[in-house]
Amino acid sequence: MCAVENVDLLISGGIVVTMDPQERIFPNGAVAVRDSKLCRVGPREEVEKAVHPKKVIDASGTVIMPGLVNAHTHAAMTLFRGLADDIPLKPWLEKIWPLELKYATAQNVVLGSKLAFAEMIRGGTTTAADMYWHFYESAEAAKQVGFRLFTGTVALDAMDGETTQSLGKNMRAFVDLYKDDPLICPSIQVHGTYTVSKETLLVAKSAARESGVVFTTHASETRQEVEEMIAQHGMTPIEYLDEIGLLNSKTLLAHCVHLKDKEISLLAQKGTSVVHCPTSNLKLGSGIARISDLLKAGVNVAIGTDGVASNNDLNMWEEMRLAALLQKGIHFDPTVLPAGQALKMATLGGAKALNLQDKIGSLIPGKRADLIQVDLNTSNMTPVYDVISHLVYAANASDVRMTMINGEILYQNQKLLTIDEEEIKSQVRKLSEEMLQKD
Ligand SMILES: [Zn+2]
Repeated sequence: MCAVENVDLLISGGIVVTMDPQERIFPNGAVAVRDSKLCRVGPREEVEKAVHPKKVIDASGTVIMPGLVNAHTHAAMTLFRGLADDIPLKPWLEKIWPLELKYATAQNVVLGSKLAFAEMIRGGTTTAADMYWHFYESAEAAKQVGFRLFTGTVALDAMDGETTQSLGKNMRAFVDLYKDDPLICPSIQVHGTYTVSKETLLVAKSAARESGVVFTTHASETRQEVEEMIAQHGMTPIEYLDEIGLLNSKTLLAHCVHLKDKEISLLAQKGTSVVHCPTSNLKLGSGIARISDLLKAGVNVAIGTDGVASNNDLNMWEEMRLAALLQKGIHFDPTVLPAGQALKMATLGGAKALNLQDKIGSLIPGKRADLIQVDLNTSNMTPVYDVISHLVYAANASDVRMTMINGEILYQNQKLLTIDEEEIKSQVRKLSEEMLQKD
């Protein structure tokens, strides 16, 4: 006889979509959580027999699945939602940057980040890769809320005026402070090859190498960026990053919309991950990334929303669906990028891109309990023939019923349990009125 295991929580009776290596789905499954980790995942009867839970959630009529990983965003940009629409990237940046200089204070970044965390938690996103100023403050805000945040010192020469020497020191200090944190995943970040000097990239490279964390930057987002890099350096952004020695398996590149065949092979060969942000790329008229070619070449592709000012929301369900649909459209082939692959990009693909694949991204005993419940009783989810198809082609962010991060329930019964959402919204509205009056 096996001993019955004491567990903190049993979530029982739903369709468990594991995203494990065998891609197992348990139609009447259960998940048990102990000490912030998953300890049992399997058929309901088996799990129920094996555990003695302190608390039980009846998950009938829902899908229990890994939380979504938003692998590229600028969380605090919720403050600028809808402020610069229907213009290309360059004038967009020229409009947004002065506003950021004026309003992206530490206090406002915390406010905007909390609004972003609220939206993401409601929509089933359990981890986000953030790139923004006041990263110490937003990391602390994430910890306070219980949200898993990948973040770090961001280099952007035009605005910082920071010396390369102090930049390297600051990058390492952030990593040292958070390297063992249960929720904060420190990283080394550079805005883009077109916004920093070669010296800055070299500093970032050595900081990333020494600390062993992921390096991330925007790359090849627009045709103009690629043309300007070729004119200035005789190389595309990807070739330039390679030349500097920044392409490896701990590098994550956002966008990669404009790639040549040989760049795709290079990314595959170096094990570099790409994060696809379909809405932002479409909205800024940047183009459509060659995602199915990247996947075919063996590149790990994650999905991100990018910042709200170019999206204009943080809805990973929309991104997942668009990612699948766009590739079918541009290839005139409905078999390209099937639902299962899109779901994998938004979960395990994201986890791998952030070097968190051992902790999150799938429901496997031993991993952190980052999971969500998705309602199958809504009109748009009825009937259910194929649950994976529903998650990608039919689900809405509002179908999420419960969000758990690191074993803690942050959202249940339509309520955020660790964020005073009304207070945050009212403060953001007040700030937006101030911005409108002054500009
Ligand atoms: Zn971005």
